[in-house]
Amino acid sequence: MRLLTVLVLEWALIQPVAAHAGFELHRIADGVHVAVRSEPAGLMVDANATLIINDQDVVVVDANVGPTSAKATLAALRKLTAKPVRYVINTHWHDDHVLGNQVWRDAFPGVEFIAHRTLADYLPGQGLKNRQAMLSGAPSGVAMLKSLLDRAQGGDGQPLSATARASHESDIRLVERYLAETPKVEIVGPTLTFEDRLVLQRGARRIEVLHLGRGHTAGDIVVHLPADGIVITGDLVVAPVPLIGRDQSHIAGWAVTLEKVLALLPKFIVPGHGPVFRDSEYSQRVIALLRDIQSQATAAKARGESLDAARKVITLADHRRIFAGDDQVRNMLFTQYVLGPGIGAVYRDR
Ligand SMILES: [Zn+2]
Repeated sequence: MRLLTVLVLEWALIQPVAAHAGFELHRIADGVHVAVRSEPAGLMVDANATLIINDQDVVVVDANVGPTSAKATLAALRKLTAKPVRYVINTHWHDDHVLGNQVWRDAFPGVEFIAHRTLADYLPGQGLKNRQAMLSGAPSGVAMLKSLLDRAQGGDGQPLSATARASHESDIRLVERYLAETPKVEIVGPTLTFEDRLVLQRGARRIEVLHLGRGHTAGDIVVHLPADGIVITGDLVVAPVPLIGRDQSHIAGWAVTLEKVLALLPKFIVPGHGPVFRDSEYSQRVIALLRDIQSQATAAKARGESLDAARKVITLADHRRIFAGDDQVRNMLFTQYVLGPGIGAVYRDR
């Protein structure tokens, strides 16, 4: 529990300058604001968005999960500046970072969408399949959460905690909005892609757009503002519990990539989800977790164990305690977003 207390204290260091429906706006440097989502941690996610206001224009990093939240971020930006958005950077291809692109395109015709090369292939391919699976599977997920609320019972069979109730209610709202909005969303893909590195010089500000290696996906982008010591990581870092993808995360590569992120010596780490960090402690814990998943699952594989057998013996109990403590929601997230997909990713990876 002591570690969790430390984390909470770290998060409290950066105070919001304004609160909006669904997010708080944090100013972390001159002209750099982060819209940090304020929904309770849960199964459904909407990405943080970073607004970088330059001498003549604005660069936005990540576009939210859909039009409603992207419009709210846009409204917050308009209160900060009348300068136009010139670039939107999508840190990776998941819907919670991409589906708001249409809002930025409609508000700023001619805006360029920057992404890793792989995003252009992913969006109409696997991305479409994943979206269809989400649209068809989510209603039963909502029904399950509603049933837990009705019975006041957690997914672990224990009485439902107040935190879990708030989390499930928030998840239901977000998922129902996703189900209503997404079929009408126009998927706006990248207009500018790159392989390893792209540098934007916007007035006095240098913005480095980097692909440092595989991790949460095969095409994660990190945005580095060297003069301010800011690194925006996308979902390479997600708090309070990491988020490993079911089909595209690469565990060993992820740890290496995150080491490269920390080698930039950031003063501020802006995660894909969760509060801004002022030091590397949380990211170091994620690296330790990833390394243990990799070594334990690789050892199970070498012993000839099936994936199901490996899932029975690998518990990551120490990491679970650090990330989840005795919190019902965080424990659920650890099972759903770390343990299951993490071991699966090592078995799948080549
Ligand atoms: Zn995300």
